[in-house]
Amino acid sequence: MTFLTEPEPPRGVALDVLPGIRRVVARNPSVMTYHGTNTYLIEGDDGLTVIDPGPDDAVHVADVLRAAGKTPIARLVLTHAHADHHGATKAMRQATGAPAWGYLTSGSPSGFTADETLDDGGEVAGLKAVFTPGHAPDHLCFAYEAPGTGRLLFSGDHVMSWSSSIVDPPHGNMRAYYNSLELLLPRPEGLYLPAHGPVDPNPLPSVEELLTHRKMREAAILGQLKAGPASIRDIATTLYAKTDLNLKVAAERNVLAHLLKLEAEGFVKEQADSKARHEAAAEDGEAADLDSGGDINAIRMAYWKKHEQDALRIFSKAD
Ligand SMILES: [Zn+2]
Repeated sequence: MTFLTEPEPPRGVALDVLPGIRRVVARNPSVMTYHGTNTYLIEGDDGLTVIDPGPDDAVHVADVLRAAGKTPIARLVLTHAHADHHGATKAMRQATGAPAWGYLTSGSPSGFTADETLDDGGEVAGLKAVFTPGHAPDHLCFAYEAPGTGRLLFSGDHVMSWSSSIVDPPHGNMRAYYNSLELLLPRPEGLYLPAHGPVDPNPLPSVEELLTHRKMREAAILGQLKAGPASIRDIATTLYAKTDLNLKVAAERNVLAHLLKLEAEGFVKEQADSKARHEAAAEDGEAADLDSGGDINAIRMAYWKKHEQDALRIFSKAD
């Protein structure tokens, strides 16, 4: 895959993206978020629309409020309810009184609830929602006609210029992700503004490449299962060769997502003893901790335990 890069952007300031559109890059750089989450500020008749408030970080909130200056923030709009996008919503709502718009139901174990909801095709402040589940069950892209620029798409985490997206079951769904990539292909937007990384000035070849890349991964996974049953960890080790622990876990989540897609389509099946082990573990209630909304360390531990169980699940080719 070819991806775009950019130097680390200056912190604490709004950067011009296009006429009427600026971004403040949040201070949450990582192997998963690149230089940080892009919080976009769009000028409109009644003030600013903020797309993705960003992570729960008081400094970032202050950066965005300072960037807005005397122009009121009229609304917050969420591409999806992952923590690095909605974490700052509460503080920004309190500081501005602006309502937060998002998909009908968040679907993510994040506790986020939108004040105003948007379904596919819904519109707010010139932003037309395009329902694109896959990376997250509540993911929206936003089509926008920028004065002097033309049609563009705020592509969130669905299509990013710097990396492929993570599809992390059960909230991430690979079949939905494929469909949401395919529905972008006939669309007219010639410019994508992702939630991480720089503007993609030629996005449709990237969307095609993402699909091709996923289909190659899928074929490679099936190829590996031809030689006999294999665990998710074994497949990810062979296919991805990641050493960074976060990237290794992300690779294993992607393999699981592919296998669940292939299972739903009847191409693979989970081995009976593996399935029994995994179902028993799920009944233990450990998975429920993920939705507790409580202590972040407890949630991390529960996630970790669940991931370790998932990584050892064994699949084989269907008969
Ligand atoms: Zn996300």
